Amino acid sequence: MRVTLLATGGTIASTGDDGDGATPELDAAAIERRVPEVDGVDDVAVETFATIPSPHMTVERLWALTERLRDLEPETDAVVVTHGTDTLEETAYFLDLCYDGPLPVAITGAMRTASDPTPDGPMNVEAGLRAVASDGAPAGRVVVAFAGSLYAARDASKTHTTAIDAFESREFGPLGTVDYSGVTWRRRETGVETYTPDPDALSNDVFGMTVTADLPPSHLEPGTESDAVCLASLGAGHVPPAVVPAVAEIRDAGVPVVVTSRCGAGRLASTTYDYSGSERFLAELGCHVTDLQLPKARIKTVVALAADRLDDAFERR
Ligand code: ASP
Repeated sequence: MRVTLLATGGTIASTGDDGDGATPELDAAAIERRVPEVDGVDDVAVETFATIPSPHMTVERLWALTERLRDLEPETDAVVVTHGTDTLEETAYFLDLCYDGPLPVAITGAMRTASDPTPDGPMNVEAGLRAVASDGAPAGRVVVAFAGSLYAARDASKTHTTAIDAFESREFGPLGTVDYSGVTWRRRETGVETYTPDPDALSNDVFGMTVTADLPPSHLEPGTESDAVCLASLGAGHVPPAVVPAVAEIRDAGVPVVVTSRCGAGRLASTTYDYSGSERFLAELGCHVTDLQLPKARIKTVVALAADRLDDAFERR
């Protein structure tokens, strides 16, 4: 099997002594050289897509990466993408929603730089290679391979700033694991969705905000000028009462509003409470709802808007 290692930058590509300000500079070949051989992988082709820290990732670059995966199809059997961890979950989910080809894809990174005496990057890439080369690797899907666990792109989130096992799938757990005994796929994803966005309609102008106690409603004003608004509401779909008119203004301006929870797991209520700012505002204002975490709700909104499929993408109250 031939696997392509597609490097985009991040800590896994970064060198620099502690306190000396590491920056991503290693290319795909330099990352690959540090990774042990993997059974079943006869050849690792290397390609440097970018050498950026992941906070520099853009919607435009995400689309270019999706197209690159498509172009790689004739020349490879699987792909491992290396990426900074900060926005890895967004890239994983964007690719998962938009890549419609047959290749199994793993995305991974590192919490320690390549110049750290005990870097975690090589083992994470090794796990990614083993995952995509394994029986049971989901064709055409993107999995996050991190610290021995394999997560669905939809569910994986970075939940720690520095820990080696920085990723979790908080509510549903990993799809599988990579350890000395090999790769174990324990469960399959259901309800997988693919979108075909119009690349010219992909917009980063989707306003995202986490709702907090006593949030001044004026903070939502930019939402009226945006292509869509994503809100991480309180609890199971609640906002301070003063925020309801601000959301109504956004809706009156014809802007879709997608609401999730800031809790990090679980779905929104529909008829549990009935106070001002309770979840009833979701139905009153025709909001879309989701259980995705805010960064991924925003990515899905960007993709679904560009595919003109917002109503397919999200349930509406
Ligand atoms: N700031 C880095 C990045 O996301 C962090 C990392 O890769 O772990 O590029």
